[in-house]
Amino acid sequence: MNSLEKQMASLNSAQLQAVTLPPQSALILAGAGSGKTSVLTTRMAWLISTGQTRTQSILAVTFTNKAAKEMMTRLSALLPMNTRGMWVGTFHGLCNRFLRAHHREANLPATFQILDTQDQLSAIKRLLKSMQVDTEKFQPKQVQNFINGSKEDGLRPADVEANDYFYKKLVEIYTAYDAQCQREGVVDFPELLLRAYEVLKANEALRMHYQTRFTHVLVDEFQDTNTLQYAWLKLIASPQTVMMAVGDDDQSIYAFRGAKVENMRLFEREFAQHNVIKLEQNYRSYGHILNAANALISQNNNRLGKNLWTDRGEGEPIRIYEATSDYAEADFVIEEIKAQINEGAVRRDIAVLYRANAQSRVIEHALFNAGVPYRVYGGLRFFERAEIKHALAYLRLIDNPHDDTAFMRVVNFPTRGIGARTIEQLQDTAKSLNSSLWGAVQHASGSGAAKLLAFAQMIDGLRFDTQHLPLPELVDHVTAHSGLIAHYKADREGADRLENLSELINAAAAFVQVEGHKDSTTASETDEDDTMMTPLAGFLSHAALEAGDNQAQAGQDAVQLMTVHAAKGLEFNTVFILGLEEGLFPHENSLSDADGVQEERRLMYVAITRARVRLYMTLAQQRMLHGQTRYGIKSRFLDELSDDDVKWLTPRVRYDAWSNTAKATEDTPSFGTFKESKKDTLGYRVGQSVSHAKFGDGVIVKLEGSGEDTRAYINFGAGFGIKCLALNIAKLETH
Ligand code: ATP
Ligand code: MG
Repeated sequence: MNSLEKQMASLNSAQLQAVTLPPQSALILAGAGSGKTSVLTTRMAWLISTGQTRTQSILAVTFTNKAAKEMMTRLSALLPMNTRGMWVGTFHGLCNRFLRAHHREANLPATFQILDTQDQLSAIKRLLKSMQVDTEKFQPKQVQNFINGSKEDGLRPADVEANDYFYKKLVEIYTAYDAQCQREGVVDFPELLLRAYEVLKANEALRMHYQTRFTHVLVDEFQDTNTLQYAWLKLIASPQTVMMAVGDDDQSIYAFRGAKVENMRLFEREFAQHNVIKLEQNYRSYGHILNAANALISQNNNRLGKNLWTDRGEGEPIRIYEATSDYAEADFVIEEIKAQINEGAVRRDIAVLYRANAQSRVIEHALFNAGVPYRVYGGLRFFERAEIKHALAYLRLIDNPHDDTAFMRVVNFPTRGIGARTIEQLQDTAKSLNSSLWGAVQHASGSGAAKLLAFAQMIDGLRFDTQHLPLPELVDHVTAHSGLIAHYKADREGADRLENLSELINAAAAFVQVEGHKDSTTASETDEDDTMMTPLAGFLSHAALEAGDNQAQAGQDAVQLMTVHAAKGLEFNTVFILGLEEGLFPHENSLSDADGVQEERRLMYVAITRARVRLYMTLAQQRMLHGQTRYGIKSRFLDELSDDDVKWLTPRVRYDAWSNTAKATEDTPSFGTFKESKKDTLGYRVGQSVSHAKFGDGVIVKLEGSGEDTRAYINFGAGFGIKCLALNIAKLETH
């Protein structure tokens, strides 16, 4: 038996049915770990191996680079083949590929650059300044959300309904922003999609070409598609195209980015009315883990509904640990990790998941001190580090000098005496000429003009000197001759940064190796619509789209750290979920509405269902976050698990945060910050629920002082956080 046959033989009947469906569109609706991704990849291999379709006729799309890579790996394992002509990737990656191939139709320069989220924010700040917009009223982040949200809904400025001053102004900014991007030849993330969509929509010949080419379109994690992505899929598919969407409504966790879980119902109606397949057997997790996931998610309403079961047995109960602080939480996690490694566990099979990126710092520090190799996904990605962004800005200017964001980043970095006044004047000139900053340099006047010209000449010189160099040498040359290396050498704390810069050369070499290999196989293929990117342009796209996989030594066995969002679709033998505290998980931003809490619950469902064998959940009574000490209250999600599936490693927290009655459990002595005082505290006690006229309902988490001087730390939840109030003054209502 070859590997595909072996894989087919291991499928259950529902999976086999899905893999071998006749050419009709279908929706696979199934819970976590039931084999959705396996079905998708096996189907691709089956379609090709049975001669039903060619590799070039398949388009498969998913949400993260890691997942796309994983899909390719699984596919090559099933079927040795040339994956070159296949369109397998993320929505952003595929749209980038499409726009590169059709940049003329898209009205973009061949060398258009991609703005990542940070670049976009600085471009917006720059724009707001030049428009003299009050950034108190129109905060750059808010403007960014507005623009991205509109694009994700497929709306250009003219399509946005604006009835009041505020929205009219936002639309005006959006218009100016689009014009600025166009002038600079840059494209932000949602623009990649919207532009690809518009080109396909406007251009019938192109649409026909793709519709004929792709006979099969397969989408993983379909529950997270937004309006625009769904519309794009519908354009690329003809009535004859066979669509397969797989998804799990319970794992929809990107509503904040415009994802529409309703797309699943729509897809069912529009494509798959008679072909909805449910997979119900979970192959990933042991019973207690699965029970916990099922119990938790059953608290949500409006679910499409499905049952998951496993025949793997109960396994170990979920271990819950309450630490006194975030440091103690990290120590606990490290001790457990070390113990498991001693028992023979492989590090990469252990994952530490958290709700917010900022939580990784403490755990990283502890892992580092303990000498345990680890790898962070998500966090500050390699390509987002300042020194890397500086180097990339030089490279971008070489590729496309009209990229104002890149220009602004390095025109005076390293410092070359070009001051803010000079830049401002240059911006004014550019505005009046309606040109890029680069274009305005020739017309600059005033004291800084000569320095600006010298900068432009340096960039031209770099371009000239590197035109025939292979990519890694080009990167090497540019980092050295732009002054970056010298700058960081002179910096006492620059050693890390120098190391990262040389890592950038390695990244370029690795990129060439992968891409070069691809290129050598293309010559004979009829992949006429594929991109003719220069290696530099290709590398720059890669840097903007890549999820930072270059940051750790590749191949080294390391504990995996990531946010829950980044863990979607992945699985690990052991999973730690940190910070099970109200305000953290569920996140405080979500607490104001029921939908928000439901999305947090789905996120928790994703987290729990990553674990195969062993699952830990931890919380801390006190932690530092964003420079503030926060006093933790046990997450409501812990209460939603059945006692039968969990084992508390520490005495259980004594009160229920948001219920009206403080609930004491007998098995718990008081400890830590929750210690109750025997002193006279005016009748108040820790754990008591109170109301305040301004702050609303809260829970006393700590008492200080006594008698008339008694002060209480009260957690008022998401809106007001912890307040310290003098009890003889504060007018509190008790319940
Ligand atoms: P998620 O919702 O988390 O994305 P999924 O539904 O995509 O999960 P997969 O990742 O495809 O699930 O599968 C989960 C695990 O179960 C994988 O390790 C996979 O190899 C295994 N698996 C799937 N189907 C079978 C089967 N029929 N027999 C044995 N193992 C299976
Ligand atoms: Mg999956």
